[in-house]
Amino acid sequence: MAQTTPNHTQTVSGWAAHDSSGKITPFIFKRRENGINDVTIEVLYCGICHTDLHHVRNDWGITMYPVVPGHEITGVITKVGSNVKEFKVGDRVGVGCLAATCLECDFCKDSQENYCDQVQFTYNGIFWDGSITYGGYSKMLVADHRYVVHIPANLPLDATAPLLCAGVTVFSPMKDHNLHQAPGKKIGVVGLGGLGHVAVKFGKAFGHHVTVISTSPSKEKEAKERLGADDFLVSTDAQQLKKGMRTLDFILNTVSAKHSLGPLLELLKVNGTMVVVGAPDQPFELPSFPMIFGKRAVKGSVIGGMRDTKEMMELCGKHNITCDIEVTTPHKLDAALDRVAKNDVRYRFVIDITAGLPSNL
Ligand code: NAP
Ligand code: ZN
Repeated sequence: MAQTTPNHTQTVSGWAAHDSSGKITPFIFKRRENGINDVTIEVLYCGICHTDLHHVRNDWGITMYPVVPGHEITGVITKVGSNVKEFKVGDRVGVGCLAATCLECDFCKDSQENYCDQVQFTYNGIFWDGSITYGGYSKMLVADHRYVVHIPANLPLDATAPLLCAGVTVFSPMKDHNLHQAPGKKIGVVGLGGLGHVAVKFGKAFGHHVTVISTSPSKEKEAKERLGADDFLVSTDAQQLKKGMRTLDFILNTVSAKHSLGPLLELLKVNGTMVVVGAPDQPFELPSFPMIFGKRAVKGSVIGGMRDTKEMMELCGKHNITCDIEVTTPHKLDAALDRVAKNDVRYRFVIDITAGLPSNL
């Protein structure tokens, strides 16, 4: 188990939802002292993932209030523990969804910490000392160094923040299917939001033909001109879907709401795979015929381990890949979350944490 101190002595200023109305208000709380394996980070930016919205509104029925969301965190190290060798004060770093894992199971040993059955997340988790974890909608974070990554010098901290969750969540299943090394495949991305737009960028960087499948016709021009998508299918248009039948090798499904997988599966070639990363609170419709008549597979994937996170971050540095963001401030969080709910952001809000803080904290 990760070594930590049980002493929660540090006062931190953050923002929390206190009930399922999802309203976010300033919240002062305590964090643990910096332990021997910990680094302390001055949080500068934090992305707003749709998972934050699921949590603040208790969509999944698992929220422990008050919840301080945020797992797309970038900032600068202000303190390092005595066991920490690869980080120093002043380093530009990022933290994603992982706060603690057992470090001993087969998944942890293979850097698939995200599949450790004792995994604790950056917020709404229960840390080893029994405390509830609070996320990046806050001015300061204490993190075990094993779940922290360097940010390449050429990448800005604001547009890089969403890579810590959205980026690795789409990178990991693409790597699992060797798409990062074998160009020339036809891949589909369902849902052009925070996760989806990064998947399109990765798909193009890896040399694939990328089709966006979207409910929003208004996103077509940008998808093609800004993100480099090759094709765009409107998923509510039966004619368009018919034209796309049996054309794709692989589909990444990032949709956040209930929908039927049947019409999407028909877009896969025989033996194609759909990886679902979107997490609606209601079950998908999964009709049997499109699966059995096309020998198609549907599987899931959750975030990514630390090896994948580092590899993705280095790759983004090399190819200069960042996210398309709209910067917001802590006092506009309710409005930002409402717009995420309405599918009205291109393509990720990132909070400038330093804007609007009480001056004494
Ligand atoms: P997002 O930015 O809100 O994007 C979701 C996209 O889904 C929207 O942009 C929209 O794209 C599409 N969509 C929304 N409502 C829809 C509906 N009723 N029917 C069909 N399509 C709809 O969300 P995100 O941050 O990318 O997250 C997406 C989902 O992934 C969330 O459920 C989140 O919790 C989950 N997630 C999972 C993991 C994991 O590890 N598996 C990690 C992070 C997030 P179009 O306008 O193009 O249709
Ligand atoms: Zn996320």
